[in-house]
Amino acid sequence: MPERIGDASGIDLHLHSTASDGRLTPEALMQLCHRRELHTVAVTDHDTVAGLDEAHQAAQRLNLTLLPGAELSCRWRGIGIHVVALLPGAPGSVLEAGLAQLSEARHQRAAVIAQRLERAGLDSALERAREQAGSDRPLGRPDFARALVEAGLVADLPAAFKRYLGAGRPGDVKTHWPELADVVDWIVRDGGVAVLAHPLRYRLTRRKLTQLLDDFAAAGGEGAELVSGYQNEQRTHDLAGLLERRGLYASLGSDFHYEGGALAPGTLGPLPASAVAPIWQHPKLSDKLKQSAFESLPTTGSVS
Ligand code: AMP
Ligand code: MN
Ligand code: MN
Ligand code: MN
Repeated sequence: MPERIGDASGIDLHLHSTASDGRLTPEALMQLCHRRELHTVAVTDHDTVAGLDEAHQAAQRLNLTLLPGAELSCRWRGIGIHVVALLPGAPGSVLEAGLAQLSEARHQRAAVIAQRLERAGLDSALERAREQAGSDRPLGRPDFARALVEAGLVADLPAAFKRYLGAGRPGDVKTHWPELADVVDWIVRDGGVAVLAHPLRYRLTRRKLTQLLDDFAAAGGEGAELVSGYQNEQRTHDLAGLLERRGLYASLGSDFHYEGGALAPGTLGPLPASAVAPIWQHPKLSDKLKQSAFESLPTTGSVS
């Protein structure tokens, strides 16, 4: 592994598969990462570890180091926040119970979103979203977004979020998610590492962002994504300082969802010259990464 944050080629610690709202199967995702010459990746599906077994098998075959992960939905001061769990717990763990709770929350939320979209003119919204998902996995807002496009209510996905599903719109339902501090606690109690996902994407004022980072660190969070896809270089530099001052490790990821979308796996953009410590130097991760992640880890079974 490279030692400095400025040397992160071949690493991507935030990727989605068909286990949540990504469009590649875990195996196809690992093949794409291999073709793109990545060496260390984390699969971080929304609120589930269901894709990890398949990803693990493919990664082993391709000689890719895979860190098991998940991106958990939660709330902080009424704002929807995402936390990446690296090394989520084994079956029977606190986090497994947490993931079951999140799966149920997604289920209940989908019914509320469907009701609201039906009022806005999308009949049989739940069935349409299910058809878009193409499997029985828990539904996400992108499934409803695609249903809205398919039904001709909006022209494309960005418009679906802008009008119906994005922050403050009728389909933005957050009340079912647990609190940030609880989610961080689940991760930490199982020996995982809690990483605040894409801190610059919540449209917070700088003051609110610093409060979020403080609360996250106080809850036991140990890292934050310094780079999540393309972002403003100046703000990235500023964020590096905020992490460094709080002793938070810096993680990096593309938040890849599908080919032809915004970012391919491994796309990280310019990294700041900074003294912030890269997450792969975290003691819980560095040994595992050296040994090739999975061999020494408990297997992470899928949660139904
Ligand atoms: P959910 O996890 O069900 O709340 O859905 C959130 C997901 O929707 C994110 O992880 C993105 O994949 C997707 N998303 C959020 N905002 C947008 C947007 N403006 N355009 C397209 N996709 C979006
Ligand atoms: Mn997503
Ligand atoms: Mn996210
Ligand atoms: Mn994501």
